[in-house]
Amino acid sequence: MGLAEYNRKRNFAVTSEPSGEAPVAPRAEGGRQFVIQKHAATRLHYDFRLELEGVLKSWSVPKGPSLDTKVKRLAMHVEDHPLAYATFEGIIPKGEYGGGTVLLWDHGTWEPIEDPHQGYAAGNLKFILKGTKLHGGFALVKIRDRSARGGHDGGRSWLLIKERDGYVVPEATSEITKARPESVTTGRTLDEIAVDRSRVWHSNRAQIEVGAAPGAEAAPLPGKIRPPRFAPRKAPPPGPGWLHELAIAGERLVARNDGQSVQLLDGGGRPLSTAAERPRRSVADAVRMLPAQTLVVDGVLAAMTMDGHSDAAALSRTIEGQSGATLAYFVFDLPYLDGRDLTRVPLERRKALLAALVRGSSAPGPLHYLDHVAGSGAAFRREAKRLGIVAMVSRRADSLYGGRAGWLEIPCGISAPR
Ligand code: MN
Repeated sequence: MGLAEYNRKRNFAVTSEPSGEAPVAPRAEGGRQFVIQKHAATRLHYDFRLELEGVLKSWSVPKGPSLDTKVKRLAMHVEDHPLAYATFEGIIPKGEYGGGTVLLWDHGTWEPIEDPHQGYAAGNLKFILKGTKLHGGFALVKIRDRSARGGHDGGRSWLLIKERDGYVVPEATSEITKARPESVTTGRTLDEIAVDRSRVWHSNRAQIEVGAAPGAEAAPLPGKIRPPRFAPRKAPPPGPGWLHELAIAGERLVARNDGQSVQLLDGGGRPLSTAAERPRRSVADAVRMLPAQTLVVDGVLAAMTMDGHSDAAALSRTIEGQSGATLAYFVFDLPYLDGRDLTRVPLERRKALLAALVRGSSAPGPLHYLDHVAGSGAAFRREAKRLGIVAMVSRRADSLYGGRAGWLEIPCGISAPR
């Protein structure tokens, strides 16, 4: 296993590819940089980043690193960051992903103890840090999912642990995060950085200009949500100005992220019970990973069979993890995003924002954007029927999100679901 196969297939006298047996690092200075950014976002945390595979592999460590071998710090694996991010200290504007103040807490180089790619893939990465504040051996170890149906964290939980060596400092003696709170490059505190408007990081993850959407109004996150209903019709609406989507057979589900937690609501806008939320945890996790602080999305939870059809009959078993089908959450509307009420923004613009959000997510999980076709409803129905689709929905491109949205559901003329 490992790199043996890679080596066996190559003659290194001929190819210029690197030998899999070549010792790993240390290469030139800068090839394996590490950085820890103290990030005052919704919650203060430390972003631990290691240069690996051309990016900064990143973990969010709520309590920051410790020099005590007995202290295991939770490290949530988050999306890769570009190398250019390693030198960033400054302000991420409010409303953007990760909005808040970033302090460069420590940086330097790292050396893997074993093959870092294998270690990373296996969820067990051991390395030596050569930083200004942190030195010596550390390990990042993935926490195994204990329940057969998968953990509640989407497999993102790791632990950051100090290895035994000459750099250990028991917490009882001193805590490095408290002893050395300042920026490693500028010596500034978080508060000093927060008042300096000269360095502002603009996330380019998704071109989401929510404030520019016509009809978007600054408003607090709504406590009550009334998902519009689909009225049954026999035939698609004639004429232009409509968006047509496949009707997904499943359970209407609205997700509301208040910045702290994700609440799931049923098609009537009623919160799901704790018992009902638990097996739908992967949906809430995927919604949390969308690049927004607060939002409401509307969609359908479905059980997808191997041939790509939604199987409504298998849904409850799939939710409980007891079927071969896959859980999928198709989102088709976005009534609220980061401080803006979008219910009066035309549907087409809401869906464009939603598409950008889903594209910007690094860990979409079961979450999918439900796309549409603008144009003839009759032609859309013919095509849907040909594909074995049971029903379609039609919504006016300019429809609002509310009681009289005028959304339609139309059968495609197939008698029984496949
Ligand atoms: Mn962060």
